[in-house]
Amino acid sequence: MRLFSAVLPPEGAVRELAAEVAGLRTLPGADRLRWTGRADWHFTLAFYGEVHPELLPELCERLARAARRHPPYPLRIAGGGRFADRVVWAGAEGGRPAMGRLADSASAAARRAGVPMKEQRPYAPHLTLARNRTAGVDLRPFVAGIEGFRGQEWTVGELVLVRSHLPVDGVAGQRPRYETVAAWPLGNRDGRLRSKGGPQDS
Ligand code: ATP
Ligand code: MG
Repeated sequence: MRLFSAVLPPEGAVRELAAEVAGLRTLPGADRLRWTGRADWHFTLAFYGEVHPELLPELCERLARAARRHPPYPLRIAGGGRFADRVVWAGAEGGRPAMGRLADSASAAARRAGVPMKEQRPYAPHLTLARNRTAGVDLRPFVAGIEGFRGQEWTVGELVLVRSHLPVDGVAGQRPRYETVAAWPLGNRDGRLRSKGGPQDS
């Protein structure tokens, strides 16, 4: 299964960003970009790729431990940028050092659980807003549009393990794009396991 760990913005922060993105979507060329849905908005901490299900218990245990070691920290969605001509993203402010440390731990946890991790690039927190399908759209106006955005601050209190369902060609997705597998509170001793129809506590 395809997995990554992430920080998820709360509803209020998502609502504010959605209002900002609605403006970006009126810019010329916006309809030629592939926009992410607000239900999918996240800051990736570490990307794991395909993980053998056998490794999942160990991965979860180590992520729980990692979460426990990091205190909650403040964060806001702010500013933005682009990756070359491919991706427009919104940035993060407020707790970047803490977020970087959490990301390092989220990578190390997987490595220790036996997940083959590719070499990590320096951590750059970003929330992907749009992708350039055709490479034909100039992304600079979109970056200019998001640069001044500064959302409400919240306290990041959870490390979330997310499963990604890649879209199957020509088949409309039946399930959500991303699915929360488990979430662990930061700085706490006990984690919670989340699964549909499963127990809420463990
Ligand atoms: P799609 O691949 O369909 O365009 P996606 O990139 O959101 O959508 P995934 O490829 O499953 O879906 O990626 C899940 C998350 O992990 C995304 O935030 C993505 O940016 C990030 N991610 C994917 N591959 C890597 C990678 N090699 N290194 C770091 N982060 C990655
Ligand atoms: Mg991808």
